[in-house]
Amino acid sequence: MTTGGMFADIPVEIGVVFEGERIRKPSMYVELGGPHTPEKFEILRIRDRSAVEDGAVRIEGPDFPDMKEGTTLPFGILVEVSGSTLDPDMEGVMERRIHDFCNWIEGFMHLNQRDTIWIRADKKSVAKGLRLQHVGIVLVRLFRSAMPILDAIQVTFFTDPSKILTPWQEALATYEQRDARTRGMTDEDVDVFYGCSLCQSFAPAHVCVITPQRYANCGAISWLDGRAAARVDPKGPIYEIAKGTCTDPLTGEYEGVSRVVKEKSLGEIPRIQLYTAFGHPHTSCGCFECTTFYVPECDGLGIVHRDFRDVTPTGLTFGAIADSTGGGRQVDGFHGLSFEYMRSKRFLAGDGGWERIVWMPADVKDRLKDYIPPDLSQKIATEADASSVDDLLSFLRTHDHPVLARMTHDNGLVNAADSVQGIHTTAGNRGPGALQGGITIAFRNVRIQADRIFVRRE
Ligand code: SF4
Repeated sequence: MTTGGMFADIPVEIGVVFEGERIRKPSMYVELGGPHTPEKFEILRIRDRSAVEDGAVRIEGPDFPDMKEGTTLPFGILVEVSGSTLDPDMEGVMERRIHDFCNWIEGFMHLNQRDTIWIRADKKSVAKGLRLQHVGIVLVRLFRSAMPILDAIQVTFFTDPSKILTPWQEALATYEQRDARTRGMTDEDVDVFYGCSLCQSFAPAHVCVITPQRYANCGAISWLDGRAAARVDPKGPIYEIAKGTCTDPLTGEYEGVSRVVKEKSLGEIPRIQLYTAFGHPHTSCGCFECTTFYVPECDGLGIVHRDFRDVTPTGLTFGAIADSTGGGRQVDGFHGLSFEYMRSKRFLAGDGGWERIVWMPADVKDRLKDYIPPDLSQKIATEADASSVDDLLSFLRTHDHPVLARMTHDNGLVNAADSVQGIHTTAGNRGPGALQGGITIAFRNVRIQADRIFVRRE
């Protein structure tokens, strides 16, 4: 923990120890961004040296004392840097450090990234004197310390609702420009992928594998960003992965990827398949933009994003599904995703791709409308079509969804090829079982040990 030295003038403590600190609503002074306000962003831009006033921190709008306690405000963070050796491809990677550095501040919680940030300041820290001005000073100093290649850095916060709209729209346009750079590249075009271990402070076994066709789970780091970061700091948290022999092009299994993930996860994750949510899927930390959830009744996958505040047809909220997904584990059917990965032709290729998707919020469907195959789009339900599993099954039947081909009988709705002694399971260790007579059993986080298993042909 760092309490003196470079932070002696900051009224709260600063240190890695505060990473993972959670601020619940009763102890929150204010909330900035988050799911209840659409206008939120954080972005880092590389500028000419003349456009950056080194060390400046500006606040466009009120600081904490002038915010009403208990309220939620739109919020933007703009970090502008200059440096003669900076590569524009590094913006996304440097921007990701805003998350770490904010979380080192006692009583200041930062979640997510880009246009999904969710920040809370707690009452105790504000009472000790913490102001947004201090947050800016801490960011300036931590960036300078971690990145000596910066010549200058300035930070601007936007808290006035009337002043955030323009920079927010500019940030959204910049994210889109960045994301579009790798569209058109394929995983076959390159010999190396990039690994990112930045989130191991939250999920120690988690490693993101970033390929041209599998954008990072957080949606903030592309293959090009990974390349720029690994070139500047090859021993840093983002590193090259020689992909090696591809042993399964459909699920995306590469000998070199599994070797490096095993090493970086300290043996926890020995095998990984990049384009599937089952078997040996890519792990998820907690920063994913969206996640899949398994719907055992139809052997399909739903998708839900952070801003969806209602319950999905399975009765679970985003938060409950995210709890099943995150932590650096491999959980069949519960799989963190970025929006950009869903625009990829490799999107869940090993599971049937879009043909396996049965439900998603209308907002997500709208954002991906140019990427969902047109013949499938109307067959995927939203919250307007289905709020329960029964609604969903009825919708899928009415719209002749291709997932129906995976169902062998009307009530069990499972693949007969997976049945064992009348109990049906899907791929991997997490799946549904349906007993003759219409009872469905869903196994969750279960490990079954058996001395012997008998499989008899009927
Ligand atoms: S989600 Fe993945 S790519 Fe993004 S910062 Fe975390 S580990 Fe890195």
